[in-house]
Amino acid sequence: MAGLSLAYYLSQSPLRNRSILILDSELKNRNDRTWCFWEPDGGSATYTSAFDSILFRKWKTVSFHGTTYAGALDMGDYQYKMLRGIDFYAFVRNELNKHPTIEFQQATINRIKDTPQGGFVIADDEPYLADYVFDSTFALKLDQSENHNLLQHFKGWVITAEKPCFNQNQPELMDFRVAQHGDCRFMYILPFDEKTALVEFTLFNDQLLTDAEYEAELLQYIDHFLDTGGYKICETEYGVIPMSDESTEENHAEHIIRIGTSGGFTKPSTGYTFQRTQRYLQAIVKNLAETGKPNRRSSWFAGRFKLYDSIFLNVLEKHRHNADDIFTRVYAENHHRVFTFLDEDTRFIDELRLFATMPFLPFVYAFFDVLRRKAIG
Ligand SMILES: Cc1cc2nc3c(=O)[nH]c(=O)nc-3n(C[C@H](O)[C@H](O)[C@H](O)COP(=O)(O)OP(=O)(O)OC[C@H]3O[C@@H](n4cnc5c(N)ncnc54)[C@H](O)[C@@H]3O)c2cc1C
Repeated sequence: MAGLSLAYYLSQSPLRNRSILILDSELKNRNDRTWCFWEPDGGSATYTSAFDSILFRKWKTVSFHGTTYAGALDMGDYQYKMLRGIDFYAFVRNELNKHPTIEFQQATINRIKDTPQGGFVIADDEPYLADYVFDSTFALKLDQSENHNLLQHFKGWVITAEKPCFNQNQPELMDFRVAQHGDCRFMYILPFDEKTALVEFTLFNDQLLTDAEYEAELLQYIDHFLDTGGYKICETEYGVIPMSDESTEENHAEHIIRIGTSGGFTKPSTGYTFQRTQRYLQAIVKNLAETGKPNRRSSWFAGRFKLYDSIFLNVLEKHRHNADDIFTRVYAENHHRVFTFLDEDTRFIDELRLFATMPFLPFVYAFFDVLRRKAIG
């Protein structure tokens, strides 16, 4: 996703005539994931406007089912948007094919190394040298004890029901009517129409489940809460996204820039990555075109969101408070504000208003624990 997005933005920039090679071990010709994100329906003003024409669905509102609140969330100007992986891969490939200086090669990368001459790559035993290597290969290796390393893992089915049983106007962002087992567990539903939806069982913890365990929860939820009249499973989605505050050093070497999940573009407290990736890559391409350097800078004050993410992960990791209650407070009492907050676009005063809706002591303990772990790390 990040590699193709970057190539797309380069192809639309003054750098479009530079020679670009995209290496991937996969052809990316399957619908291997769906991306959702929220943005205003603002045409060219949004970070994802390039992909407006291939959005699969967009919804004006979402719903939430928590411990003390169930119903719609007022998203203000935001819309919840869904893009299918296969539509994205096909669209970007088609655009890039119009540029003779952009090439694709299916190959497995064995090594990426910085050298004085440039970024050096070995893929399928072939060496490559480039002014810049943008690396989106990612291996889940989260092992520094001062950090918080949770996983967001999920299995979902696209089901088609015999009877209309989905509210096609409202995706269900989180439905906590599943046994929590001391974790954070919920269902996520993207309705495509009244009879068809992606129903996904999602967990935030550090233990993957077996296939049978995800499926047992899906079966039970569908049986209990959806009046399907019988259904068939049309597609399956499985994924693991890191929820980690481990520093990923986006610019760890002069000629190698990490992008996507590998570059730390995944929001640690939510797993959402798509919209942030578009935002960050646009900044990188702009800098590259204007200064010849890809570095993306942010102010120290913007760094406060990293602290907030760490505190939140600490509360979850240490089970300092029931996750279903935390999320119920966050969404039910902040509606529109929470989406702006997760986009890291809030003013400090709005952040304080949001924090005031949280259970006080668990977050204070987490704050000091984060400081302690950073100090000894
Ligand atoms: C099933 C699923 C659903 C998701 N849904 C959402 C969502 O709704 N919203 C959201 O914001 N985020 C979502 N995410 C998180 C995130 O947006 C995606 O993981 C996204 O694809 C990350 O982009 P990326 O470019 O970092 O990694 P990828 O898209 O995974 O790209 C990495 C590429 O590197 C290639 N590669 C890896 N190793 C090598 C190697 N050694 N040699 C050659 N090629 C290699 C892979 O084949 C792949 O094409 C989801 C993730 C998953 C897995």
